Amino acid sequence: MSGYNPYDNVLAVIDNAAKLLGYTQQEYEQIKFPEREMKVSVPVRMDDGSVKVFEGFRIQHSTLRGPAKGGIRFHPDVDVNEVKALAAWMTFKCAVIGIPYGGAKGGIAVDPYKLSKTELKNLTRRYTFMIAPVIGPETDIPAPDVGSNAEVMGWIMDSYSMLMGYSAPGVVTGKPIGLGGSLGRGDATGRGVTITTQNLLGKLGMKLEGASVAVQGMGNVGSVSARLISEAGGKIVAVSDVSGGIYDPEGLNFKEILAHVSARKLLDSYETKAKRIGNQELLCLPVDVLIPAALENQINIDNVDKIRAKVIVEGANGPTTVEAGEALNKRGVHVAPDILANAGGVAVSYFEWVQNLQSFYWSEEEVNSKLQVLMDNAFKSVWETAEERKVSLRTAAYVIAVKKVVEALSLRGGIWP
Ligand code: GLU
Repeated sequence: MSGYNPYDNVLAVIDNAAKLLGYTQQEYEQIKFPEREMKVSVPVRMDDGSVKVFEGFRIQHSTLRGPAKGGIRFHPDVDVNEVKALAAWMTFKCAVIGIPYGGAKGGIAVDPYKLSKTELKNLTRRYTFMIAPVIGPETDIPAPDVGSNAEVMGWIMDSYSMLMGYSAPGVVTGKPIGLGGSLGRGDATGRGVTITTQNLLGKLGMKLEGASVAVQGMGNVGSVSARLISEAGGKIVAVSDVSGGIYDPEGLNFKEILAHVSARKLLDSYETKAKRIGNQELLCLPVDVLIPAALENQINIDNVDKIRAKVIVEGANGPTTVEAGEALNKRGVHVAPDILANAGGVAVSYFEWVQNLQSFYWSEEEVNSKLQVLMDNAFKSVWETAEERKVSLRTAAYVIAVKKVVEALSLRGGIWP
């Protein structure tokens, strides 16, 4: 991601929201900086006997509204500015949906698909050991993100528990069900994306049934969103992953595609008569709904003029740059921002953590219905704020979130000491 610093995006949206809220610089200066940045060098003995050292981070942006919370990303492009941005987005995401957390993020610069299972486990355990001083059920609670999953969370839970000398399921969320994971957590981000898509289309007098939808990314967020949207009657016309994409304006057979990608196979090996397209082409298709569910900086000043989707729902974190977002807003393209649209994941992480703290577990129905209420309420307040202030949905979401974070600072009595 050369030349592009996602943290600049964060600062621009915070400044914009603070200005609209009428805050003086002093009132919100603190939230422009992460509270704590930890960098670790994680040594791993590889299967061939060699030693490799991986760069890792855990960055806590804010603990003003509660313990820090956020995923751990395993990706070759992970760097300090990306993790800083991702941590700040978590703070505002938790604030906008009203769950009692601050924000954090972790990451390791590694391609997890190039490691054996043993290497990945050793990397995860050693990383957990190295960040153990700053994480914990009351302080900072990791979760899955790009490149990590429930199995990795199980290893984190075990490593931390071993260090503490007791079983600590609440240290991490997105765990396997057998270790205290929550029913519904695996689908939660995609479910939240689907709910947000329905809510947004509803406001615009459109329906999900029959709407054409393109999804960039076939990881947890992209694949579950596409599955739930097609189950709800949406027409998945295009999907892509790192190997490229496929497009059929009549609709793809998503069940078959899901079986393929669930077997950890890339789309370029999926046999189909649908047209092969690149990721850039997918983003520029004439669809009702575009769901970028991969990485940051996908919709930017270089391609924004070519975007033809009527509505964009951000499954990924930071897929649209600030400039591109402004251009879309001017053109009347509604963008459901990441901190609202993909908040279903951390919402059910919160439910998982609550269940862990109480050692009392809920049914999947209960989880899903609580998620629905939370997402509906958050959407409603973002939509209403956007209408009242005549601003984009992103700006509205940040106005709500920044206000809650700054209010927490003031309610605590301001800067201590
Ligand atoms: N990684 C997810 C996100 O970006 C989930 C974080 C969590 O559940 O704590 O929102």
